[in-house]
Amino acid sequence: MQKLPENFETYDEARQKGFLRLKGLKDSGQRVVGLFCSYVPTELIYAADAIPVSLCANSEEPIAAGETQLPANLCPLIKASYGFALTDTCPYFYFSDFVVGETTCDGKKKMFELLNDIKETFVMYLPNGREPREAAINAWRNEIIRFKEKLEDFYHITISEKKIREAIRLKNREREAFQDFLELGMLMPPALSGYELGTKADASSFTFKIEERISDFKKRTEEALEYWNKERKGKSSDRPRIMVTGCPNRGVRDKLLKTIEELGGDIVIIDTCGGLRNQLQKVREEGDVYTALAEKYLDVTCSVMSPNQPRFDMMGKFIDDFHIDAVVEIILQACHTFNVESYNVKRYVTEEKGLPYLCLESDYSQADKGQFITRIEAFLEMLS
Ligand code: SF4
Ligand code: SF4
Repeated sequence: MQKLPENFETYDEARQKGFLRLKGLKDSGQRVVGLFCSYVPTELIYAADAIPVSLCANSEEPIAAGETQLPANLCPLIKASYGFALTDTCPYFYFSDFVVGETTCDGKKKMFELLNDIKETFVMYLPNGREPREAAINAWRNEIIRFKEKLEDFYHITISEKKIREAIRLKNREREAFQDFLELGMLMPPALSGYELGTKADASSFTFKIEERISDFKKRTEEALEYWNKERKGKSSDRPRIMVTGCPNRGVRDKLLKTIEELGGDIVIIDTCGGLRNQLQKVREEGDVYTALAEKYLDVTCSVMSPNQPRFDMMGKFIDDFHIDAVVEIILQACHTFNVESYNVKRYVTEEKGLPYLCLESDYSQADKGQFITRIEAFLEMLS
């Protein structure tokens, strides 16, 4: 397993530091918009001179509070995020001027109705599918314009197309740097651990200035490449190369990613909405800005889209490009869309790609850690 760098920051440490940075920014008058999903076109938030902050919670702590109003049989991400809001214990929620939600899964969609009683929550109506293409793009484009108007009304500003185009270019540069970093996983043997790849990718949301994030990714990519060229290039490894797919895994990172690597696998790509999945496609820099944003953000390959062929096409590309030996899918408890889709993911991975597949369903507790270890151990043993 690759060692973590000496200055490695855990997700919790990065989140903690982010609080203080965000407080400083708020004190100086910074606009802040909270969000929950990769479908939200953050370019518009930057064009409004605001910063987006992710409110997706990964902690078990606020779940009990969330369950006082939400059913226990609901995705832990939704319960924890709502629990934070209810108890006013998440500084990112506290500092958000308003929240932007989206109609992705039913649990989140209905939770937003309750959340709106705590803090203003603007909901974007995401189409359920991408076809017929023109109708879906038009519908999503209209919602994107409605969100731009919301930002204008809320902050009493006018957002020019020029500002949006500048934000598109800047975000595209960030995507390039992010992509280069995540594509380090293609190296054989790997240059850094999957745990580091995933943690750094998720924690980057706590560095609020895009330019800072870009230079941070570039720096770590260069360091890792230098190390690989010096120490790893040409060496062989018998550790299986694993792709992790499925639901956002921040809340199960240690239980899943760390365990897989401690038990002998190398996670070389994390195909979730916080990973490479969303960095490959840039926003077109020419033509109508709203159509360009609609095209990019409608193509996020999440299981809430039906049908969801682009996810399978992308998985196939990752399996080939990253020389994957096996796929592990993580399903958050009661996430129906990923859970139902996992049947086809298993079929695709095992039948079309001829690779072993393991599906693990879990929540944010540690109660099933022992079971995780046993199942991952058996899976890795089968690969050896
Ligand atoms: S998994 Fe899907 S619905 Fe959930 S945050 Fe990611 S893109 Fe949004
Ligand atoms: S993991 Fe699934 S159920 Fe949970 S918020 Fe994302 S799409 Fe919804």
